[in-house]
Parts: sequence; C-alpha cells; structure tokens
Amino acid sequence: MRKVVSGPLSVVGQREFLKKISGIPRRVLVTGGSGFLGSHLCERLLSLGHTVVCIDNFSTGRRENLAHLTHNPHLHIIDHDVRKPYLIDADVIFNFASPASPPDYQADPVGTLMTNVLGALHALENARATGATVVQSSTSEVYGDPLLSPQRESYFGNVNTIGPRACYDEGKRSAETLFFDYHRTHGVKIKVARIFNTYGPRMRPDDGRVISNFVVQALLGKELTIYGDGQQTRSFCYADDLIDGFLRLSVSPETCTGPINLGNPGEFTVLELAQMVLALTGSRSRIVHQAAAVDDPRQRRPDIAQAHAELAWEPKIKLSQGLERTIAYFDERLSADSRVMAGEAV
Ligand code: UDP
Repeated sequence: MRKVVSGPLSVVGQREFLKKISGIPRRVLVTGGSGFLGSHLCERLLSLGHTVVCIDNFSTGRRENLAHLTHNPHLHIIDHDVRKPYLIDADVIFNFASPASPPDYQADPVGTLMTNVLGALHALENARATGATVVQSSTSEVYGDPLLSPQRESYFGNVNTIGPRACYDEGKRSAETLFFDYHRTHGVKIKVARIFNTYGPRMRPDDGRVISNFVVQALLGKELTIYGDGQQTRSFCYADDLIDGFLRLSVSPETCTGPINLGNPGEFTVLELAQMVLALTGSRSRIVHQAAAVDDPRQRRPDIAQAHAELAWEPKIKLSQGLERTIAYFDERLSADSRVMAGEAV
C-alpha cells in the first residue's frame, strides 16, 4: 500500500491554508475554465486575488459561466483547443479541459481521447517550459467498474479498453501516465487528483449526468429516468468542496504528487438519489426504468484517507444540502428560460 505522507497542511488547518493560497497573487492557467468545474475554479482563484488565464474551445463549456467575471481585469479568456500546443506563462496550471458527462464524451469519442492525451501532453510541455506546477483533473473512472470498494488510490482498476466509456477512462489513464513520466523524466512538478462524481450550479440542464437529469425532470414534471435497476451506487461531491480540495492540493508540498482521491464518501444508490430529488423538489413525477448503460460501474465510493492526511481535506456539504442549492439553481434557470420563450412567442 502507498505510504501516506503527512505534509505541513495536515497540521496548519484552515486559517493557514487560506493565507497560503491567497498570500502571493499568482498567475494561474485553467484549461477548460469555462466548463462547470473550471468556471467555479476560475471564480475562486479570482476572489483570492490571482490572475487567471482561461483557455477553452467552448465545446461543452459555456461563455455564460464566466460572463459575471469578465469585468475583472485579472481574467483573460483565450479561445483555444488544447489538442493544439500553447505557451502561456504561469505559476500553476489546472488541466480541466475535457467533456465530462457520458453523453458528451461519447458523442465524439476520438475527440475525447485526444483531448485528454494531447491536452495532458500540452499542459505538461507548458509546465516544462515555464516551471509551473501542473495539476491534473483525473477521475474515478480510472477505476472502471471497480472490484474493490471503497476505491483507494493504490487500486489499479477494472476498465474495459474497448467499450463506449473507454475514450474517457483510457484518455484519463493515459494522461496520468504522461504526468508521472514527465515528472520522472523531466522533473515537472505535478499533482494528480481523481475526481468522483461532482455536481452543483452551472451544470448544463442537458448535460446528461444523473443529478442534472433528475433535477430538471422533477422540476418540469417529467418522468425520472433510471438506467437499469437503480441499485448501482455513486458518491456525490458538491462543487465548492471539490474546488477547496484542488486549491489545497495546488499548494501542498512538492512531494505530494498524488494520485489523490477527491470525492464525498457518502454512497447512494441511483434509486435513493431519485427519491431524494423528488422529496426535495416536492415533485409528483414518476420514476421509470430504462435500459442500463453499457459498462456502467455498479459501485463507486472514494477512500479519502489520503486527502485527509495530506491535505487536511474532507467534504463539508451533505448531499441533501448540495441538492437544495442545485435545485434552486436549476429552478431559477428554467424559469429564466421559460420567460425568454414566452417573450419570443409574443
Ligand atoms: N443515470 C440514470 N439516469 C440518468 C442519468 C444517469 O440512471 O438520467 C445513472 C447512470 O447509468 C449511472 C449513474 O446514474 O449509473 C451516474 O451517471 P452519470 O452519467 O451522472 O455519471 P457516471 O458516474 O456514470 O460517469
């Protein structure tokens, strides 16, 4: 088993951590900065006084995710596809560029694989040229359909290399390989975080992931679509908690390379999630079952002992609290959309 190294952050606590990330304004590059998680990260970095360069090709990311920040002179947005090289001066790079929901990443599987492999290569080359620390958003999908639960970082996973999820899973796995090879071969400062299912405001209503689907379906009075029997499990982390983990990782000691799980260990079946969404929205929608997705992992739950020990991190927001905030976001957004539609009809 991998040795857990206790860095200084495990003893300094929240106050020192905040001082550390906001102390020296830094130039931070965020690839995929207009996406769901990337935009939360850009927002938090700007609020801490850093200069943020966001690069995005706006394929699944949306300009409106950053629209409320564009007045900030410390935000620079560059329209660029990470499959092509770039050279941007930075102290830290967060590599977040990739489609992330199964319908999005399966819509262009070759593009997804290349975005993850070439995107990692170009982030690493940029870090090699500038001396930046580069933080990779990897995924729990590297564990595939796990034969071990909860999943620890030492588990090698169980991935079907030729299935419809492989473009994403293998893309992220190859990216991890590139990160550690650049670290060993070129001494690039790397950090790899494995993200477990994350949700919150700014997910697209048509994103296709389970939380956005169920919340939108419940709010619109449509049937909640469970794929398969609903007994498969997921562990859902609220976006703010995840960003907090990423910031802690970015200022951790150089020896803390990961891979490190970031997720909420609370585990729920998809059926439990559907029932929770119905209760919290007060919706009278029905639950229906549809065909199970191919290669759908049956079980997913992070072991976060390492994040706890090395980053003094654990999620704070319970699923019910995070769902309430997410429901409020979609409620507002769907109402705004229907006002626009009504306006157009006039
Ligand atoms: N799922 C579902 N109904 C939906 C969307 C997803 O039952 O409308 C299931 C999906 O089959 C999976 C789980 O919910 O078992 C999580 O799916 P999601 O696409 O959110 O993320 P994944 O963890 O599969 O990448």
